Amino acid sequence: MNAGLNYVLKKMLHMQIGCHVSISGSIDKAVDNAVERKCSAFQIFTRNPRGWNAKELTKEDIANFKSKLKESKIERLATCAHMPYLPNLASPKVEGFEKSVKTLIDEIERCSQLGIPYLVTHLGSHLGTGEEGGIKRLVEGLSRAGKTSKDVMILLENTAGQKNSVGSDFKQLGEIFNQLKSNKILYSEIILFGKHTYKFNGKLFTWEEYVNNVKTTDGLHQFQLMI
Ligand SMILES: [Zn+2]
Repeated sequence: MNAGLNYVLKKMLHMQIGCHVSISGSIDKAVDNAVERKCSAFQIFTRNPRGWNAKELTKEDIANFKSKLKESKIERLATCAHMPYLPNLASPKVEGFEKSVKTLIDEIERCSQLGIPYLVTHLGSHLGTGEEGGIKRLVEGLSRAGKTSKDVMILLENTAGQKNSVGSDFKQLGEIFNQLKSNKILYSEIILFGKHTYKFNGKLFTWEEYVNNVKTTDGLHQFQLMI
């Protein structure tokens, strides 16, 4: 068999594959939805993603979610949560920024209660006030959230370059990681690139171009790449 294909198949055999599933009804329904779709991994919102306020998780919610997950064949480490839509960790508006950081800290707590090890967040928008300030606020927000002692890792989801978005090219991502590193928040040596990997600022990259950019950008070159 072709060596390249062999490598990809080997990777795929060990890959946990899933999708975002609904928690409609109660949070444990997410596990039913994932099992029904034959997922070996899944992502959820821990609450309604379209509002600022979230109902607290009850002891029953937490126990039901955990026991259903245990009964399923899905590993706990293959679950993750996604931040709700409204928070903007790069917001120049003080109230919006503070609410966003509070939501991030609350979500870390909710993930911890549910035993979910990863929380995905977008990098936010500077709302036209410039990338430098946007990055500074994002790093501050992540640093404050990183001080919580919960065993939850924050995963940063970069964008494909929507207007005013932070982290929308290699240089900006490198700057974010450098600043996080100097705040001693970034410990991981491995970076997982998500669905927007190949597109930055509206430009599509081949895998080779992409790897080359990562290897030569200050702040990114120390990372290993995983596909
Ligand atoms: Zn997302």
